[in-house]
Amino acid sequence: MAGTPTLAVAAERIRVRLSGAVQGVGMRPFVHRLATQCGLSGFVSNGADGVTIEVEGSRTADFLTRLTAERPPLASIDHLGVETVPQTGGAGFVIRQSTGGTVTTRIVADAATCADCLRELFDPASRFFHYPFVNCTHCGPRYTITRRLPYDRPQTSMAGFPMCPACAADYADPANRRFHAEPIACPACGPRLSHPIKLIAETVRGGGIVALKGIGGFHLMCDARNEPAVAALRQRKGREAKPFAVMVANLASLDAIVRPTAVEAALAASSASPIVLMDAIPGALAASVSPGLARLGMILAYTPLHHLLFAERAGGAASPFALVATSANPGGEPLVVDDADAERRLHGIADLIVTHDRPIVIRADDSVMQVIAGAPSYLRRARGGVPDPIELAEDGPAVLALGAHLKSTVTVTRGREAFVSQHIGDLDTAETVRFWTETIDHLLSILDVRPDRVVCDLHPDYRSSQLADRFGLPVIRVQHHAAHIAAIAAEHRLTGPVLGLALDGHGLGPNGEAWGGEMLRVDGAGWRALGHLATLPLPGGDRAAREPWRMGVAALHAIGQGATAAARFPTHPLAGPLAARLASGPQPIVTSSLGRLFDAVAALLGVRTVQAYEGQAAMELEALVRTPRTTPNGWTWDGNRLSFAPFLAALDSHDPQSGAELFHGTLIAGLTEMALAGAAASGISTICIGGGCAMNRVLTEGLAASLTASGLTPILARQLPPNDGGLSLGQAVMARLTPARGD
Ligand code: ZN
Ligand code: ZN
Ligand code: FE
Repeated sequence: MAGTPTLAVAAERIRVRLSGAVQGVGMRPFVHRLATQCGLSGFVSNGADGVTIEVEGSRTADFLTRLTAERPPLASIDHLGVETVPQTGGAGFVIRQSTGGTVTTRIVADAATCADCLRELFDPASRFFHYPFVNCTHCGPRYTITRRLPYDRPQTSMAGFPMCPACAADYADPANRRFHAEPIACPACGPRLSHPIKLIAETVRGGGIVALKGIGGFHLMCDARNEPAVAALRQRKGREAKPFAVMVANLASLDAIVRPTAVEAALAASSASPIVLMDAIPGALAASVSPGLARLGMILAYTPLHHLLFAERAGGAASPFALVATSANPGGEPLVVDDADAERRLHGIADLIVTHDRPIVIRADDSVMQVIAGAPSYLRRARGGVPDPIELAEDGPAVLALGAHLKSTVTVTRGREAFVSQHIGDLDTAETVRFWTETIDHLLSILDVRPDRVVCDLHPDYRSSQLADRFGLPVIRVQHHAAHIAAIAAEHRLTGPVLGLALDGHGLGPNGEAWGGEMLRVDGAGWRALGHLATLPLPGGDRAAREPWRMGVAALHAIGQGATAAARFPTHPLAGPLAARLASGPQPIVTSSLGRLFDAVAALLGVRTVQAYEGQAAMELEALVRTPRTTPNGWTWDGNRLSFAPFLAALDSHDPQSGAELFHGTLIAGLTEMALAGAAASGISTICIGGGCAMNRVLTEGLAASLTASGLTPILARQLPPNDGGLSLGQAVMARLTPARGD
């Protein structure tokens, strides 16, 4: 309306305190620019607990709104405190020198090249034109180059690269996007690549295999459309069938290969830049990229070097590059990170080893994610995810949690924050154990934490359990599946008692049982079992996990069809003798593991009888499912045991696809009945779904929907993988709630 009077707002001075990921992300130049635009005077400074701002003028409300709405892309504000302080007058806005002392705030995670840097990378007028290490405060390496806090260039692996005058000017200019960008570098002063981009592209185009040093380690890359190249990579790396991830230039190049949903595409394009599982278009790539699976792990180019490689190929190519991009970790050992190591360990695998002179301080594999029930979920958490802390519900003592044995991670807690390490790997080799030790040392040192207790798994054979005593601290041992459930409850900040379905491969029960299909009530450090899957014999122990036909025979024995074993497994001459031994010989241990039940079903359906990698049979079974369907009366629940014997007894009448669909649907229905019974008995309706089998999307989505429809509240793993990669968080929170000796 015409004539509305403009209100004259009185000037005021406010003090704003920000905490969270607010340092090393371009917050101060952003605040400087914003305050100047709002016509405010005052200052911004970094301190021990975050960022402090004082602004004075009449547009402070406007400033506050835009402060959160327009914050830099990598910043996340956990707490924002505002108070009014006396006005001091004065003009202009300044960035004050950091107040020395201890800086306890965070290092942020490594981030994919931002749009501004990408523009400069291909702008002939920019001094960063075609420079493979361009970065700014909105992108680039962080965690993987940081030796210790505070996060300043001399504390990173950029210490050996003195800034040139142009970089120094950008670094010191509050109006510049690179103000205090610690990894700032340009062709005049920064790291250099060992080989020309053109040679790398030619090697790949010619069917060769390239080892490429990246952010958290080396990748092995080859043309994903070239079957002989992919097969050669499998053969040289000693990786028979485990799926490879595929890198493409950008979102648009996904469409020829996969059918991403909007959520999957957004996740792939996020600054964390994980590998994201997406439905594959059959025949788009070489068959041996991801044999037997319906989804492909896709990742977008996330460093300037990747972008240059794809751009080099773009000229004159028949189809755009799609590159296998797999971690260079021969023999299951940790990712190769240093140059001498690369020569030694990748010689004979790669035709060309491409390196650069910016050292990688901490290894980090690519993170792997999928979308479950409409939201992202981890399969492996590493680069881009670490070291962002998980905020806990409550304060507590500092503890060090050592994780499991396979896919291990460690967790260190500090106050209300839990820092879960990147994926470390299987603690089967001396190299991996060394990486595990280094990760613990690095985490404790950058966090400046002295734990007062250590926590590990009950299993005495886990390497992590065996090393627990070396820290000279009280050791708490926590049951594997209780820790799985506690981890999920913790990331959702649930403090009351919860029910949990631990759907897992293997874990030791409190009396030496082989568990993996349990319903538990977990309350703080206390827990008890309310139900189990019916057990099956575990013939051959660990061998049963590698050879699903053994579980197939065990299942036949359990349902009284042992006599058919030889006929059902004609290619496994030991099947008949094994069935005979189960019928009359000494009995093997039994297991309630859902993972082993998946193996049994996959074997009996003829989907897979011997696995090349852990979980292969279950993943191939899942890949066959279009719509899960339920076999009525396919299960029984007797108040303690959930048995799928009726379903197994009818399995020989189904082809692989319908068998897989009926198994998933029946499993969902049976688990729902068990959960409803547990909820009725305990009065708890919150059901955490954890364990390695929760990475099965068909199972977890179906179960979550079914529990919801039954009036229960399913809780899924979101910030950590549901498998052993998230176990250390559960161990940590349970240990924090365990009274220390003498309490
Ligand atoms: Zn950038
Ligand atoms: Zn420079
Ligand atoms: Fe587990």
